Amino acid sequence: MKAGMYYGIKDVRLEDLPKPAAGKNDVVIKVVSAGICGTDVHAYLHNGDPVGIHSGNQFGHEFVGQVVECGENVKDISAGMRVTINPTARIPLGRGLNSTEIADMSGAFSEYVLVEEAKMGWNVFQLPDSLPFEKAVLTEPLSVSTHGVNCAGLSGGEKALVYGAGTIGLCAIAALQNKGVSQIIVSDINDGRLAMAKELGAIPFNSKNGSLPDFVKAQFGTVKGNSDEDCIDAGVVIDCAGVGSVISEFMDNAKTLSKLIVIAVHGANVELSPYWLLAKEVSLIGSRGYTPADIQDAIAALARPGCRLPAIITARYPHGDFVKAMAKAAEPSSIKVAVDYE
Ligand SMILES: [Zn+2]
Repeated sequence: MKAGMYYGIKDVRLEDLPKPAAGKNDVVIKVVSAGICGTDVHAYLHNGDPVGIHSGNQFGHEFVGQVVECGENVKDISAGMRVTINPTARIPLGRGLNSTEIADMSGAFSEYVLVEEAKMGWNVFQLPDSLPFEKAVLTEPLSVSTHGVNCAGLSGGEKALVYGAGTIGLCAIAALQNKGVSQIIVSDINDGRLAMAKELGAIPFNSKNGSLPDFVKAQFGTVKGNSDEDCIDAGVVIDCAGVGSVISEFMDNAKTLSKLIVIAVHGANVELSPYWLLAKEVSLIGSRGYTPADIQDAIAALARPGCRLPAIITARYPHGDFVKAMAKAAEPSSIKVAVDYE
């Protein structure tokens, strides 16, 4: 089979590898479409090791495809089924790889992917017939954002503020909409990404152009806090930016009992005010990866009529042009680049 391999900075290749074979408890999936993640781009531009992509290995973890081989012990999965996977559970732990490495070296850029100890609803997920592969390829990044939204335990009427209009921030819009949240402000400094946020139904704000808290107050209104301070009327704030100032801006402006969900990777420690944590009774919640329930939610969100998220796919390449697709994904104007197999 043709396999997309990682060798180092700006060094990715399509090579011939033997096609994997399913053991008694495994399935082999023929990849139909794959997405290039920010993680893959980080490996391509900087270094794969910190993101679990080591030189000489297959990589890619966002894909959909068709089951072509099924071990004799596998239940509820059959050849021909249209599926996606939980890449973090593609092989069991205990073989010297952590869950990040297991996921990020899944081999979405290869023609076939082996899923060991395959179990429907655990590491393999069936796609509804109504959801075409070219949209379903967004299931994995949408699952990341869905996990964040699900961590907030929303009731549906909240107003939301999302920091960052990259793939995860844009997916957060769809995840929030899927939970009945329709009033969403998204802040970023990139007008192209903000235009996409607007296309998905959010209110965009370029934080280069002024004060985000003032903008949120103007859009959503203010509410009084327990110390008679003016607070922004957003029940949930989602950090998909990873900028340190997000935390203090939240503490300064959050309303009582609101929640900050941190999905972004922060590179540095920040200061925060325990006084306001107490006075406002706010929650700071970390969100890492996803659960099987989040993946099911993401599939349902994509299958929803009117889901506009597939607009974030800014380019598609045939698998034979995988090397070009990686270069395209590394361009700052790209949001999501997809690779389609023949
Ligand atoms: Zn990803």
